[in-house]
Amino acid sequence: MNPVIGVLALQGAFAAHADSLRRCGATTCEVRTPADLRDVQALVMPGGESSTMSQLLESSGLFDAVADRIASGMAVFGTCAGMILLSSEILDGRPDQRSFGALDISVRRNAFGRQIDSFESDIDTPQGTFHGVFIRAPRIERVGPGVEVMGSLRGEPVLVRRGNVLAASFHPELAGDDRLHGYFVSLVNPAAPAGETGAAVPRPGEPSIHETIREG
Ligand code: GLN
Repeated sequence: MNPVIGVLALQGAFAAHADSLRRCGATTCEVRTPADLRDVQALVMPGGESSTMSQLLESSGLFDAVADRIASGMAVFGTCAGMILLSSEILDGRPDQRSFGALDISVRRNAFGRQIDSFESDIDTPQGTFHGVFIRAPRIERVGPGVEVMGSLRGEPVLVRRGNVLAASFHPELAGDDRLHGYFVSLVNPAAPAGETGAAVPRPGEPSIHETIREG
């Protein structure tokens, strides 16, 4: 059975994520309301403007609904602004901007490539490179215990994971390379019911990101 993966579609770059997830075998669904969220087993939070997304999450009633699902183990993948939403600390954020604290990382908005807003660069993983598209990207300034660094750029973390929570400071959906989405799909247990229990955390023996990147 294909997992149903929602893409948060309040604002930002959500369409390309859905295309990539579908190529990796998932069924996708755009999530704009708490009712939409009930139908999904996992969620992708796209790039965009994290302060605007924070506002829209609150006004749509989704903020608490998403927080509850993350607390009950739903797999989630945040990219760029989505990574900011998953972080535990936002530096240079708007004062009213909120985040889910799903990953113990401190991120500074717009701090990667401050001089040139956007750039592309290969990202090192222990098993190979992934082409990273960085657009006004947040910089991970602190990685807490239990958070695994899976990709780095010039020695700085840009791809991190804890259990089935994955975050990238770049835009993998724009790279023409579905390996990271494929890896995320592999973290989602298709047998897990949508709703309260969410998806299972990865079991021992499931492919690591490094294996996925090597094979892909
Ligand atoms: N600069 C944006 C923010 O702080 C993130 C940019 C992006 O998602 N491409 O929310």
